[in-house]
Amino acid sequence: MSKILEIKNISKKFIKSIDLSSKFINFFGDFYREEIIHAVDNVSFDVMSGEVVGVVGESGCGKSTLGRMVSGILPITSGKVDFKGEHYCGFEGTSYKTDINLNLKIQMIFQDPFSSLNPRQKIIDIISEAPLHHDLITKKNKKSFVEDILKKVGLGSDVIERYPHQFSGGQRQRIGIARALAVSPDLIVCDESIAALDVSIQAQVINLFLKLREDFNLTYLFISHDIGVIQHIADKVVVMYLGQVVESASVKEIFSKPNHPYTQALLEGVPTLDTKRKVYTPIKGEIPSPLDPPTGCYFHPRCKFSTKKCIEEKPLFSEISPGHFSACHLNKN
Ligand code: SF4
Repeated sequence: MSKILEIKNISKKFIKSIDLSSKFINFFGDFYREEIIHAVDNVSFDVMSGEVVGVVGESGCGKSTLGRMVSGILPITSGKVDFKGEHYCGFEGTSYKTDINLNLKIQMIFQDPFSSLNPRQKIIDIISEAPLHHDLITKKNKKSFVEDILKKVGLGSDVIERYPHQFSGGQRQRIGIARALAVSPDLIVCDESIAALDVSIQAQVINLFLKLREDFNLTYLFISHDIGVIQHIADKVVVMYLGQVVESASVKEIFSKPNHPYTQALLEGVPTLDTKRKVYTPIKGEIPSPLDPPTGCYFHPRCKFSTKKCIEEKPLFSEISPGHFSACHLNKN
């Protein structure tokens, strides 16, 4: 497999500027400062062609911000992303997303299928808008093109004249998938794309993603807070905590030999047939504020193995076995 996406040390900072009244108070002394949120902090990993890479972590860990940067929706504060060997997007101020053909090859599917579809547009127009705009299809073949794409996602041609509100959540998400497929992408970033669906529908949409992967030779960056979902769809897993990657490995390795205490804690919450009688112990405490992250290892306030070293020193993200990386002071090498 060749490398399709290379994420190199990307970070995203959001700066909360001080308002006018604070500036006025600062005139009499230095009381207020800008607040900086490190939403994503120096993240690097590769995605191989045809692979499904699952990005997992609690809400607020920066996984959606990462997905938006990879999709080119959000500019990067530092670092860079190479897509198919070409510079795709870089930090603010540099030219990024200049090649429209390259841009179309990365598409994003969002969490809420209702708010991501224009309620005033018919399905035929939602799906054909981008390919028409970029001259990938003509007005003449628009109808047959849309019918064909809808068939691929399991919807009939009778839906093309309807509006988004006339569909269930699962059907709307299929329409969102069809819209993404309409520009023939190579990589799809799925941001919590099944989180808003009922569990039974989730399974159908996961199966659809896997089928489309085969049919269209797709690569997915699959973002989810649910590590159980990641287990079913991903080949490789990237675990994020407070904007940083704390562990990455193949799905088999993560589920059989989780190394980082945070990954272990996430896995304890996954129900299995063997452990269904086990009492679930949630991870203690809340994810800290990225405005004021803890010292040393960011996970130390919640980690049951935390030591003095963990409070003082940031652990290195190192390879503990071939292809398995983890950032913990308990690592043997
Ligand atoms: Fe826990 Fe320390 Fe490892 Fe962080 S470095 S995960 S606090 S044991």
